Amino acid sequence: MHKTKKFLLLTIVLFVFSTLIQGAIKQRVIPIIPKPVKVEVTKGTFKFTGQTKIWMSEQSEELQKLGGLIAERINRSTGWKIISAVGTTRKIPRSLVLIQFKKDFLPNEAYSLEIKPRKITIAAGSGAGIFYAIQSLFQLMPVDASKNNFSVPCATIEDSPRFKWRGVHLDVCRHMFPVEFIKKYIDILAMYKMNTFHWHLTEDQGWRIEIKKYPKLTEIGAWRKDSLSENNKYGGFYTQDQIREVVAYANERYINIVPEIEMPGHSLAALASYPELSCSGGPFEVGSSWGVVEDVYCAGNDKAFEFLQNVLTEVMDLFPSQYIHIGGDEVPKDRWKNCPKCQARIKAEGLKDESQLQSYFIQRIEKFLNSKGKKIIGWDEILEGGLAPNAAVMSWRGIDGGIAAAKAKHNVVMSPSTHCYFDHYQGLSGEPLAIGGYTPIEKVYSYEPVPDVLNEEEAKYIIGAQANVWTEYIATTDHVEYMLLPRMLALSEVVWSPKILRNYSDFSKRIEKHYDILLSKKINFRIPPPIPESGEYLLTGHKPIELNRPIKYSKIYYTLDGSEPNEKSKSYTRPIKIFKSTFLKAKTILKNGKASGTASLIISVVDTSVNGLNYKYYEGDWNVLPNFDSLTAVKSGRIKKLSLSEIKAREDYFGIMLDGFLKIENPGDYTFYLTSDDGSKLLINNNELINNDGLHGSKEVNAKINLNTGKCPIKIFFFEKIGDQNLKLEYESPGITRRLIPASMFFFNN
Ligand SMILES: [Zn+2]
Repeated sequence: MHKTKKFLLLTIVLFVFSTLIQGAIKQRVIPIIPKPVKVEVTKGTFKFTGQTKIWMSEQSEELQKLGGLIAERINRSTGWKIISAVGTTRKIPRSLVLIQFKKDFLPNEAYSLEIKPRKITIAAGSGAGIFYAIQSLFQLMPVDASKNNFSVPCATIEDSPRFKWRGVHLDVCRHMFPVEFIKKYIDILAMYKMNTFHWHLTEDQGWRIEIKKYPKLTEIGAWRKDSLSENNKYGGFYTQDQIREVVAYANERYINIVPEIEMPGHSLAALASYPELSCSGGPFEVGSSWGVVEDVYCAGNDKAFEFLQNVLTEVMDLFPSQYIHIGGDEVPKDRWKNCPKCQARIKAEGLKDESQLQSYFIQRIEKFLNSKGKKIIGWDEILEGGLAPNAAVMSWRGIDGGIAAAKAKHNVVMSPSTHCYFDHYQGLSGEPLAIGGYTPIEKVYSYEPVPDVLNEEEAKYIIGAQANVWTEYIATTDHVEYMLLPRMLALSEVVWSPKILRNYSDFSKRIEKHYDILLSKKINFRIPPPIPESGEYLLTGHKPIELNRPIKYSKIYYTLDGSEPNEKSKSYTRPIKIFKSTFLKAKTILKNGKASGTASLIISVVDTSVNGLNYKYYEGDWNVLPNFDSLTAVKSGRIKKLSLSEIKAREDYFGIMLDGFLKIENPGDYTFYLTSDDGSKLLINNNELINNDGLHGSKEVNAKINLNTGKCPIKIFFFEKIGDQNLKLEYESPGITRRLIPASMFFFNN
């Protein structure tokens, strides 16, 4: 009796003790990105020493190289001379990293990583799996690893990717980037287990790949007029030797390079070199402005096909990739309509129109590539006029093309511009010039590549997703890195980690270490400013304003007078007390002086019981503003400030009617600026003042009106069909420079 009781007590003590330990272990963040399928944190750490051995389970050149990666990494940080070798001796070292091929490992890129106090075991069925285990291990190492602190936490990790196409693209045509940078780019992709590099090599504005049979492609096609460059020309190209070097470099990092040779459109650089391949015969100049060019390859001219086949033959010789990207996007049909050869082709082939001629073009190229054992992938426009029998589709104009292709049993890579275009803005203020759009890291993280409408069978055709980095407005390598990072880390988790494990707040904790890793590797990235939003912040009462510190070792500087903050401005140490409406500007500055953009915010002191607007929210598919009064609202309510984000609208196909009163304190001429994407209207005193209706991108219309002191009725109508959305109302009045209408001027009631 007595004994049993004691035993029970001991069990309870042990239980409590082990729960405490487990609690403590669970608190430890394993900062691996993308998040592994399964992580079990265990007790203790593995400490690397000068005596640590790296053993391969078998004699293999590939394993030897992979083991070498670990040894090299340790030796670089510590000055030790650790070697990697095949482990044959019977005496097992006290500190061992064991790397094993295990043939039964499925799928191909899966791995396991077991870290115990005296032994790390890496196992996988392929070199790729081992490589990914090593990337995970590297992420666990201290960023400032040295002889004294070189340890990693104990854990057991089992991991494999969700998708097999984990892509990142780079446009080297709008701006050219050197081979050394392409290698660095590949390194960045590899760190985060991305396995596909889509190299966009030909464009209207430049042909970037040496083709031996057609030297003019690079003598002429690689250079465009540019008044800002030396000798008034801009360009460059990669020689075939350089391309082989890059392909081999990527191969060692388990990255497949998919080359893109654009056709039939985006081919002005080729046509400038060989104008006889066009419908009109030219002459042409290599493009020096952005946009869609009307001149394309002549689909009625067999010489154009012969040319492309010869080009592709050299391309296939350089790139081992199973897929060759043939572009196919944004092909205007005007030249084909007016070309006798193209019209003759339509007749001879029994085609219905120029859309089918585009389809004929792609199918003819596909047949050629298929005959060489290759597959084609193209932008979703290749669906027009009928999809080539074996083609894969890269869905960029939203997801509809991808859905249609998957339903037709074609492989699909999702890359919708809404979530995957990394030439879009990442922040709301303080960002360098971008092409447009707003794709912050949270939005990338929220992306789900498999659309709900697909059934299980159809979903299998979604083979992955990809980020695209178009470089019209990105001229330097630093800027490319800025646009890529840290967004690519979010995408890596979208394409690698199980859907069920995706959790943004957990990701935000893990990413902190990666800022340090990127800094240590001299890779540029966007430093988040300390204010996450732009526009207007409503202050009710006198609650102090808290700023974010996204990076631990950073400092935050701010101003309240509209001036640009710098290291001489006020340093943020505690929440800021604000008593009247004002401007807040702030930036994050790292130890090395590297700074975020300046974020600015209007602080409006309001009384939320009276300040704001009434809204009604509608859903529907319109091309112009409907008569909202004749429709039934899905919901209605009050918003505290004029902002779309205040109303939880769906992404597309909705409309909003806002009404209330605008308080005018000083009489005089008021100019209003109404910006929207898509259509909008502004009514003041129940009269239409601004009509900004119709389907369009972000567009501003302004108008002036004389207003008296008092509260005047205001109404705003807005609708959104698809794509980006935006609604903004600014004003200018006697003594007030142009700015957003602050929430303190809006009232629900008269
Ligand atoms: Zn033609």
